[in-house]
Amino acid sequence: TEVLDVERIREDFPILEREIGGKQLVYLDNAATSQTPDPVVDAIADYYRETNANIHRGLHQLSQEASVAYEEAHDRLAEFIGASGGREEMVFVRNTTEAENLIAYAWGLNELEPGDEVVMSEMEHHSSLVTWQQIADRTGAEIRYIQVDDDGHLDMDHAAEIITDDTQMVSVVHVSNTLGTINPVGELADIAHDHDAYIFVDGAQSVPTMPVDVEEMDADFFAFSGHKMVGPTGIGGLYGKQHLLEEMDPFMYGGGMIRKVEFEETTWHDLPWKYEAGTPAIAQGIALAEAADYLDDIGMERIERHENALAQYTIDRLSEFDDIDIMGPGAGEQRGGLVSFTLDTVHPHDISEILNDYSVAIRAGDHCTQPLHDKMGKTASARASFYIYNTREEIDALVDALDAARDLFR
Ligand code: PMP
Repeated sequence: TEVLDVERIREDFPILEREIGGKQLVYLDNAATSQTPDPVVDAIADYYRETNANIHRGLHQLSQEASVAYEEAHDRLAEFIGASGGREEMVFVRNTTEAENLIAYAWGLNELEPGDEVVMSEMEHHSSLVTWQQIADRTGAEIRYIQVDDDGHLDMDHAAEIITDDTQMVSVVHVSNTLGTINPVGELADIAHDHDAYIFVDGAQSVPTMPVDVEEMDADFFAFSGHKMVGPTGIGGLYGKQHLLEEMDPFMYGGGMIRKVEFEETTWHDLPWKYEAGTPAIAQGIALAEAADYLDDIGMERIERHENALAQYTIDRLSEFDDIDIMGPGAGEQRGGLVSFTLDTVHPHDISEILNDYSVAIRAGDHCTQPLHDKMGKTASARASFYIYNTREEIDALVDALDAARDLFR
């Protein structure tokens, strides 16, 4: 009763055939970065073999082909996340972190002042938490955090209390990369908008693993990273409502983002190019559109079911042991495709190292959510995260390796 034809999918990912120390790789670090299927690798190679040229400025054939493919990739990614405005609402950036910084600098630094508030949650990734902290420091704005309860849910009463008319921006993560919680971003958008605040949604973990519709959730800004959705590194997307992207000043200046430059002043190019100064990641952008096609061919609803099923299976298996503490929503509750946990007797870093001896790749550390770990009384955790090519057998391998780790430390 598998939701996906995993065996077929795995054929597109030759890296999964690799052996580490004589054992076949079990790759469970997908929340950090996903593997890249042949069609996406081919898209990059084909671009460099057949089309490579700088975009926008050339009238020669290669430049025109590269420009069209790169521009159409924006339309494709807009469509992928439900933005009906096409390329004008889709800025390509390096990653989610750059998208956060773009809005924090281009909007926050100009708009925030003493008395204003930015609301985040206690489960934010450092990419938003640190960025807004810095912008608040520079502008005199205050930061407030929506509390997270012991089961890893946002306290929505607290959210309704601290989002006020002083709030200018609500910046929240859609799916927590540490807890797996799926946050009610649509509800938060409604609360923010009731107070004339904007909402920025960090979709780094949601876009790869579930159908996303930025218009349905009514996000003002929404960010994601290509490398977590079978795309290349060095490319990601920032969605913004068109009128907001039109009103904002650029973040970076230079070639490609201008309409007319005189010694005295300059006017900006159309959206989204106004936000893409300099030569962009052309091959990566084109390959990202291929990644979106690849995921849509499988079907985002089915991917979501597969992810949830693997997470539930992991929770079931880990619950067999009373020395394992699972973070985030409990069994039976819908969650993203990742499970973080701690073992009473073995430090997460030791777990990860021993698991590597068993060719099982997971992540150990604070997963860029240090304040959340502090709050939960942990310095670190181990995280297994899944994707379209993972199986229950691989989770069994994880549990077996955990047994071995426990024995070593007994
Ligand atoms: N937000 C979340 C929820 C993430 O999981 C990550 C990646 N760990 C990021 C932001 C940052 O993504 P990137 O490193 O691609 O900028």
